Parts: sequence; structure tokens; C-alpha cells
Amino acid sequence: MSVAAELVDYDDVLAAYEPVMGMEVHVELSTATKMFCGCANQFGAEPNTQVCPVCLGLPGSLPVLNEAAVESAIRIGLALNCQIAPWGRFARKNYFYPDQPKNYQISQYDEPIAVNGYLDVPLDDGTTWRVEIERAHMEEDTGKLTHLGSDTGRIAGATTSLADYNRAGVPLIEIVTKPIEGTGERAPEIARAYVTALRDLLRALDVSDVRMDQGSMRCDSNVSLKLKGAEEFGTRTETKNVNSLKSVEVAVRYEMRRQAAVLQAGGTVTQETRHFHEDGYTTAGRSKETAQDYRYFPEPDLEPIAPSDELVDRLRSTIPELPWLARKRIQQDWGISDEVMRDLVNAGAVELVAATVAHGASSEGARAWWGNFLVQKANESGVELDALPITPAQVAAVLKLVDDGKLSTKLARQVVEGVLAGEGEPEQVMNDRGLALVRDDSLIQAAVDEALAANPDIAEKIRGGKVQAAGAVVGAVMKATKGSADAARVRELVLAACGQG
Ligand code: ADP
Ligand code: MG
Ligand code: ZN
Repeated sequence: MSVAAELVDYDDVLAAYEPVMGMEVHVELSTATKMFCGCANQFGAEPNTQVCPVCLGLPGSLPVLNEAAVESAIRIGLALNCQIAPWGRFARKNYFYPDQPKNYQISQYDEPIAVNGYLDVPLDDGTTWRVEIERAHMEEDTGKLTHLGSDTGRIAGATTSLADYNRAGVPLIEIVTKPIEGTGERAPEIARAYVTALRDLLRALDVSDVRMDQGSMRCDSNVSLKLKGAEEFGTRTETKNVNSLKSVEVAVRYEMRRQAAVLQAGGTVTQETRHFHEDGYTTAGRSKETAQDYRYFPEPDLEPIAPSDELVDRLRSTIPELPWLARKRIQQDWGISDEVMRDLVNAGAVELVAATVAHGASSEGARAWWGNFLVQKANESGVELDALPITPAQVAAVLKLVDDGKLSTKLARQVVEGVLAGEGEPEQVMNDRGLALVRDDSLIQAAVDEALAANPDIAEKIRGGKVQAAGAVVGAVMKATKGSADAARVRELVLAACGQG
């Protein structure tokens, strides 16, 4: 398939057309249990170990609504400046596909919990773009199908399909924007910035782990083109499951260029879902179902949701400052450059550094630990920084041990490794591993005397004025004291012992 030949140059797209976009983002809530049953809601368990009659849709089972999920949904709505619906029913969305063992999905079809909001999205140039939110509604996630035997991993051509229902019934929020218009050439950038801002906001709300790579945040991007100045929107395509922030940008740009090619060849854009490929292009999927196909009707097994004003007010008081505004304030407090801040943000370190500072550490010290050594440790073990088994309080305690002169930075690393290995609190690790710096000169002196006695030739050289030879003796002492002596002090004592002090 010649993909590139069918594309119009980006500049030429913009000369003739205006893009219109709409983003649908699905977020899995990180509640302890699923939406309508008591099964654990946790990523990565053995397939089909977190299932029960309710989420397997066995006859006679009845759903029970998870209140924590409703509260998260309301908080998301409030953070997106939405109105919270005082009353709403769930609906059944009927379809037959093995990812949903009930053969219907419970969803807030036309009575969403939150409507009519907006998010002021920060852009790279320091300006903001207001993205209007149409609605945020609750639904349950489907199971996960894995198709084997086809080159693409898709069902077409597959010889075997595996179904894992651990994910079936996980609480999901779908956040849908109103059409995003007037962006011109910035459409791809704005799409990406919106999804980035939404991810950061949801993370700050602590309602989801928003991992696009693990599917806890998934984006479908709708794009259409209209002739410049035209009133009516063109036909949109919906590119499914765009799994990284970069891909959001790539998918929008690609669809603009592809649709322009279709239109300029005199064709019409087909309304369809499309699949995004990691190499940066989309291919046609199924043609879009219409609402009628799903035979929606009100879910008879659940009571309507009717959040009280008191509940909404209480939840409103838990909405944090927008994370990028909080970051700007923090960046000023810490006095660091945009680049340094960006690195910390990308590493997911900002909140951890801030918490470490709150435990009494200097921002410089806290930044150095989280931004370097611990990032490296997280990468080595393939986890997110905040999943490392060390707390900001513990990092602050390590920094204090260094400040107090009990640890060198090098020894502190070993202490941190001990903490990460589950050996206990920093001070305990330091003591158990015998890492504390030896402050006692008499102990160091004994090691110096021994090292000089063991290396008479070198001792002689130093006595003769070749002070650079002292390095070897210092090295021997450091080795003998397992690095717990202060190297500068060792050197002083070596030189003094050889009459060079
Ligand atoms: P569906 O469930 O059919 O995908 P939704 O209403 O959930 O429809 O989402 C459609 C998304 O696409 C919304 O974000 C909407 O604002 C946006 N949208 C609607 N019409 C167009 C269009 N012509 N071009 C681009 N985006 C559109
Ligand atoms: Mg949709
Ligand atoms: Zn269950």
C-alpha cells in the first residue's frame, strides 16, 4: 500500500481547508473495585482472576453502583468546569461482541453526569486555548481480546482469540469535547496539548493512573475538513485508540493530509472509524454504527443517580489548582529554568520533589535525587517514578543524613538502594549496612598507618615530596574502610603521616 503518495502537503491542506476536531478520551478510574461489583480493579493480574457473576454477566446477577466511581466522575466534571446533572439514569448499550460478556454495556448514554464545560489548555508558546467540553459520562470498560495468528494483531485473519474479563466492568469515564474549530495549522498541536492537559489534570485529581501505554487513558480523535469559510462541517473520521501523546498529534495531521487528498481527487470522505498505526498512518476500520444500532434503553437494574448539592459542594472543595498553574508557581519558588522544569515534569518528578521539600529537604537536593538517581532506578526496573518503593519523607531523611555529615553522596546512594530493597528506613539501612561516615580520626589514622606500612615504596615517595603518590594510599584506606571514611580527611592524614601536612 502506498501510503505517502495519497497525502497532500500540510501547507496545501491549510491553503484550502480548515480542520475541525473532536476528542473522545476514555479514562479508567483507579477505584479499588469495579463499577458494579466488588471485583478488584487492578491492571496486570492473571487473566480472568478478577471476575464474578456480575461482571461476567451471568444470569440472575445484579449490578451495585460503586459510589467512589460516581464521586470521581463528579470531581472530573467539576475540574472541567461542567454542570453536574442533578439526576440521571444509566442506559444499556446493546451489542454482541465477546469483549462484553453481558452483550450490553452499561453507559450513561443520553443522561451524562457532567455537561457543558471547558478546559483552558496551555500551549507551548505560553498562551492557552479553550477547549469546550460537551460531556463527561460514566460507563463500564469491556474485556480485553487478544487476537493471535494475524500479522496485525487484529481480528481479521486471526486463528485464535483470547478473552480476558479482568477489565470488564472497570469504571470508565468518557470525556467528549465540542467541535474544536478555528485552530488552523495548530490543530495537531492543540489536540496533543488538550490530551496532555487532560492527563495532567486527571493525575492531579488522583482519579486514574492515566497510563496511555497501559490503556488506562485512551484517545479517539475525530477530524474533518471544510473548505475555508464554509459554514457546514465536513464528514469526520474517528481514529481509534491513539496510544501516546505524540500519536495524537501525528494522527490528526495524517488525517488532515489524507482527507485533503480524497477531497481534492473529487471524492468524499467516508464517515468511519480508522485504526492508528504506530508508524504514523491510519487505515479504515468499520463504518460507524449509529445510535439506533445499539437499541439503547434505560438500565432497569440500577437506580438513577441523584447527587445532592451537599455532595457536589464537598467534592468541589477537593478540586486542586490546575497542575500547570501549580507548576508555574513551583518553578518560580525553586528558581529553575523551563528546561529543567520540563525534564522534571516528563520524569513525573514534580509532585515528588515538592513533597520531599515539604519534608524539610532543599529543593536542589530533592531535585537531584528524584531527577537523576531515582529516575534511573525507575527506568531500570521499568516502573513509574512514583511507584518506586521509597517515599518523599525517606528521600528527605537521606538528604538530612548527608547534610549532617553522616553520609557522603556516594554512601547515600547505597542507603537509598537499601531502602528500595525493602531494608527499612534510611537511618536503619545506614546502620545495618555500616555505611555511616567514620568521623573518628583515630579509626582513620589506624587504617592510614596500616596502608602506609603495607606500601613502603609509596610511603617513601610521599616522604620524598611526591605528594601525588598519596592517591594510591588514600584509595587503599577507602577500600579498607569500605568507603565510609571522608576521602579528603584521609588524604590530609596520609600527607601528615609522611611529613607533608
Ligand atoms: P460518536 O460516539 O459517534 O463518536 P461523539 O459525540 O461521542 O460521537 O463524539 C464525536 C466527537 O467528534 C465529538 O468530540 C464532537 O465534538 C466531534 N465532532 C462532531 N462532528 C464533527 C465533525 N464534523 N468534524 C470533527 N469533529 C466532529
Ligand atoms: Mg463516542
Ligand atoms: Zn465482578
